[in-house]
Amino acid sequence: KTIDLTNRTYVVMGVANKRSIAWAIARSLADAGARLIFTYAGERLEKNVRTLAETLNGDHLVLPCDITDDAEIESTFAEIRQQVGVIHGLAHCIAFANKEELEGEYLNVTRDGYLLAQNVSAYSFTGVCKAARPLMSEGGSIITMTYLGGERVVKNYNVMGVAKAALDASVMYLANDLGKDGIRVNAISAGPIRTLAAKGIGGFNDVLKEIEEKSPLRKTTTQEEVGDTALFLVSDLARGITGEIMHVDGGYNKLSLS
Ligand code: NAD
Repeated sequence: KTIDLTNRTYVVMGVANKRSIAWAIARSLADAGARLIFTYAGERLEKNVRTLAETLNGDHLVLPCDITDDAEIESTFAEIRQQVGVIHGLAHCIAFANKEELEGEYLNVTRDGYLLAQNVSAYSFTGVCKAARPLMSEGGSIITMTYLGGERVVKNYNVMGVAKAALDASVMYLANDLGKDGIRVNAISAGPIRTLAAKGIGGFNDVLKEIEEKSPLRKTTTQEEVGDTALFLVSDLARGITGEIMHVDGGYNKLSLS
């Protein structure tokens, strides 16, 4: 069995640069023949995303979408509906928290910092699923990106861990809501990867070293491993899987904590 995504269209949200996990997902899906719609936040990123999208085969769309703004989510999906009609899935690869709250004690988080992390990193997934549902009339597969820090205490991950826990719970509720429409909803829990977002997390190099030394596969996770797992999850090979948090972390999450 092979994966062929010809004649299928997917929305990829969260490409910032060539290191972005969203970009690896885009490459895996495009290699399988998918048509892609990229969304980016803020004019500053538009050129980056357009330049990257042009390196792919095929005709891909690039649209703005700041996911903290309901009106912008609505207008972006209205534009997608107008330009392509039906979509078959979506990859949500978006998170943000204040850098100063990604070190030290979680307890020092402010109300504003807490709500910001929840808004951008957790609620946005539900908001986007709501907007995508009417366009997914043929069913399909939606993916978000999560991290172990939502299941366990991971040093410095703090407020982002609490947001990922909310995101993980959203995945199962959304899977239950959307399953009757033939839409599957899953998360990929990636091991640490050096990206722009990861730069904000205190002690990130030490985390990478620990994974290299201790994870069952004795190596860090790559963007390409995540991209190919996303390809599997959107494909019909994964038709029985929904509401799942799939770890792509060299097995690190299976280690005992002591
Ligand atoms: P990245 O910085 O390349 O991507 C984060 C993206 O979020 C950027 O494109 C940024 O523009 C976007 N974003 C932030 N605020 C936004 C807003 N208001 N509206 C729209 N987009 C917004 O970093 P990444 O590591 O590729 O992150 C992608 C996802 O993967 C995140 O959810 C992150 O938590 C998750 N993740 C990353 C790692 C890792 O180690 N890098 C591990 C597990 C999970």
